[in-house]
Amino acid sequence: MASGEGRRQRHHHDLVPLAVLLKREMKSERMGMGKPTLRYGHAAQSKKGEDYFLVKTDCQRVPGNSSSSFSIFAIFDGHNGNAAAIFTREHLLNHVLGALPRGLGRDEWLQALPRALVAGFVKTDKEFQSRGETSGTTATFVIVDRWTVTVASVGDSRCILDTQGGAVTTLTVDHRFEENIEERERVTSSGGAVGRLSIVGGVEIGPLRCWPGGLCLSRSIGDMDVGEFIVPIPYVKQVKLSNAGGRLIIASDGIWDALSSETAAKSCHGLPAELAAMQVVKEALRTRGLKDDTTCIVVDIIPPDNELPSAPAPKKQNKLRVLLSKMRFGGSTNKVSKNLSAVNIVEELFEEGSAMLAERLGNYDNSGKSTSGLFVCAVCQVDLAPSEGISVHAGSIFSTSSMPWQGPFLCLDCRDKKDAMEGKRPSGVKVS
Ligand SMILES: [Zn+2]
Repeated sequence: MASGEGRRQRHHHDLVPLAVLLKREMKSERMGMGKPTLRYGHAAQSKKGEDYFLVKTDCQRVPGNSSSSFSIFAIFDGHNGNAAAIFTREHLLNHVLGALPRGLGRDEWLQALPRALVAGFVKTDKEFQSRGETSGTTATFVIVDRWTVTVASVGDSRCILDTQGGAVTTLTVDHRFEENIEERERVTSSGGAVGRLSIVGGVEIGPLRCWPGGLCLSRSIGDMDVGEFIVPIPYVKQVKLSNAGGRLIIASDGIWDALSSETAAKSCHGLPAELAAMQVVKEALRTRGLKDDTTCIVVDIIPPDNELPSAPAPKKQNKLRVLLSKMRFGGSTNKVSKNLSAVNIVEELFEEGSAMLAERLGNYDNSGKSTSGLFVCAVCQVDLAPSEGISVHAGSIFSTSSMPWQGPFLCLDCRDKKDAMEGKRPSGVKVS
């Protein structure tokens, strides 16, 4: 392999400096120099006491190995009580981690995250519903592993990314009937009724809601009394920041009902994370008053000191950096403007928002095989007897003649849950 690379370099003399640069970067990553610093702040004003948050900066992919550390930042905005928000805060992380295969390297682990997030969200929902409590919650769950940010979310607690160039992107979608036509159609076709609250005289008021129940959100964890087409399957987005880093703002709708993403980002520019979170909450209250629980987490992903953009690199290296960004992200030279070097490019690694479990769990080789050689349920991770597992594809409109025998597999209970979420059986009624 090494000799092969050497040959390629000799044939393409113009690419040698790039290869050297790449090697240099890999070497600095190995030495841990490429690791960004995280700073975060949190602020909240409570009205109903149904907003909860989670910050955990000492997670380890490989237990005991500090170089495999990653961080979790999450917001849970409860409704009809706080039980679902508290339960999700308590269990979601473990259920996501429990759905990840053991012994993966960083890249494989990051690649496996989107599916594990789907399984973890559905398992948490299923467990909470089995307690028979009626509250529900949004969940916006952010995993930061060095430069890679993975966001999974149901509901309308938004996460935005503000990068050095001043570009603000939203890493979540709002699962609200009012703004999301796709979700309206999905729920309607699964048997839900979407409409406004009508008062005496037939006058319709307020945002679009799903009936029965009257929920404005099309996805959530909990809400067993609303209908199982209100699914816990998260929208997932994974991006890799450039070595200029960036700022994440995660907040409940108390912020977003008052401020646009751009206004929120702008309101705290230049402030350290701790003060920035306070400033965003202050700005929202100033605009709209305290109408709802208002919670905000600001996370700064800061380049290591030796790579601060304030220290300009020599001219020659700048040229190389542009080439490097072109090579990495597949952009054309024309599009790479003079000041848009590698430092401003965010690489999109993954995005999927489908509400169909079969599409989200996908096909995979060796699927569902636990380390013991038994098959496990792709959602709740229980061991399955050979006769017990039902392919996630069985009976789905996506199934082909061969797919019903392919993994991933579900236990009977999770298969039942899947059918309910797709509107194939009345919610709350079990098929035996
Ligand atoms: Zn299961």
